[in-house]
Amino acid sequence: MTNTSSSVSLEALASLCKRRGFIFQTSEIYGGLNGFWDYGPLGCELKRNIKQLWWRHIVQSRDDVVGLDSAIIMHPRVWEASGHVQGFTDPMVDCRACKKRFRADQLYEEVGPEHETGSAAERQLRLPAGAKCPACGAQELTEPRAFNLMFKTFVGPVEEESAVAYLRPETAQGIFAQFGNILAVSRQKVPFGIAQIGKAFRNEINPRNFTFRSREFEQMELEFFVKPGTDAEWHAYWVAERLKWYESIGLPASSLQPYVYRKDELAHYAGACTDIMYAFPFGVQELEGIAARGAFDLSRHQEFSGKSMEYFDPDTQEKFVPHVVEPSAGVDRIALALLCNAYREEWIGKDGQILPAEPNTPPPEGFEMRTVLGFAPCVAPIKVAVFPLLKNKPELVQAARQIFETLRRRWMCFWDQTGAIGRRYRRQDEIGTPFGITVDFQTLSDQTVTLRERDSMRQERVSVGRLREELENRIG
Ligand code: ATP
Repeated sequence: MTNTSSSVSLEALASLCKRRGFIFQTSEIYGGLNGFWDYGPLGCELKRNIKQLWWRHIVQSRDDVVGLDSAIIMHPRVWEASGHVQGFTDPMVDCRACKKRFRADQLYEEVGPEHETGSAAERQLRLPAGAKCPACGAQELTEPRAFNLMFKTFVGPVEEESAVAYLRPETAQGIFAQFGNILAVSRQKVPFGIAQIGKAFRNEINPRNFTFRSREFEQMELEFFVKPGTDAEWHAYWVAERLKWYESIGLPASSLQPYVYRKDELAHYAGACTDIMYAFPFGVQELEGIAARGAFDLSRHQEFSGKSMEYFDPDTQEKFVPHVVEPSAGVDRIALALLCNAYREEWIGKDGQILPAEPNTPPPEGFEMRTVLGFAPCVAPIKVAVFPLLKNKPELVQAARQIFETLRRRWMCFWDQTGAIGRRYRRQDEIGTPFGITVDFQTLSDQTVTLRERDSMRQERVSVGRLREELENRIG
């Protein structure tokens, strides 16, 4: 009955996101800025829910992971040690005709997999045979050239080379740089992890597909430190854990595809990498990468800082630089996947019959159209909407307001007293609110309300005293 994400039009979704306050172009009044987005009242609730669910799952419900909130701007040596100053470079090509710029490896995606010969590294350094500009079609592309994706700035008043610093392109390096301090204070033993959520910045050559590839975005990263030799089993563990988490927030298993890297696609230090891919309307694309990175990061920081990153194992009396398994996810991409997955259009009949809407077709006689965001309750920006049936009946408004004030202590709730009740339900369907409560005249006599469920549109009478428990069971 629901649309699959691949049949959702990104334009329809972007238009709903703007109209209902999920996502706006940044600085729109000045024409926007490519690759930057602002999240409105509902969008920031959605993102907050994603981050909270991740943090709960990764940090708060485990004994072996602790959190960190490190600075966005760090010592520039961090980025030399990590390899970003040298290597964080996407080779790119320019179109001489239309002056647009593209990532060389993405041109292979455009021409199709049959042209994907050679290793990933080789493919970045030459153009696919007969490559054309994806924007204007001209065969006037330059050879791939280096381009550093880090945003540069200056620390302090003088803009000179020694004051150069970078906006972090990933949150992970803050974790590696604090490994020693956290080990000393947290009383953790390997295997254990450090998690961080925060902004990252990449001067992407070609931001596109709405928020999918942005220049400013948020990451949720876990660095899980393990004993050398146990990398493969921990990598498999985290891939399975992460897939389960995606299902728990409402992305069906059928829309998720793990992509296991071939040996020739791996970074030189990595033992394994699996991307969790989601079937977006614009193709199957990465939500999260889970990489077994060996001792590369800690060893490099040990070398560049001169500080030991070794761990002393009290059980075996061995000393070693821990290896790391890194599940690294993007909040914005997950928010976009949830929106794509949730969006659907339906025709609803007067008797409550629900049909999937045919694209670009008016509803048949006796039916009307509704747009629904079918979010899982745990990610829905608003969990419960409360409606007094009539706004000019103070006794209804007062009873409804009392329920609203009680429930809002526990969940994000919405108050709406204007318009016909059907229209109020429709407004909530469109933003994905899973439950609606209507207070009517019967409430005043028997202390029951109507509880309406978004997807089935079923309504039942529930006593006010049982409401919180009933919602607790359904929202969690
Ligand atoms: P891609 O190949 O799509 O550029 P990546 O492999 O470089 O991604 P990582 O460096 O592994 O990405 O970053 C981890 C996660 O951070 C990604 O899985 C993605 O969810 C998120 N992410 C990375 N780059 C962006 C971006 N430009 N916009 C939004 N999210 C991003």
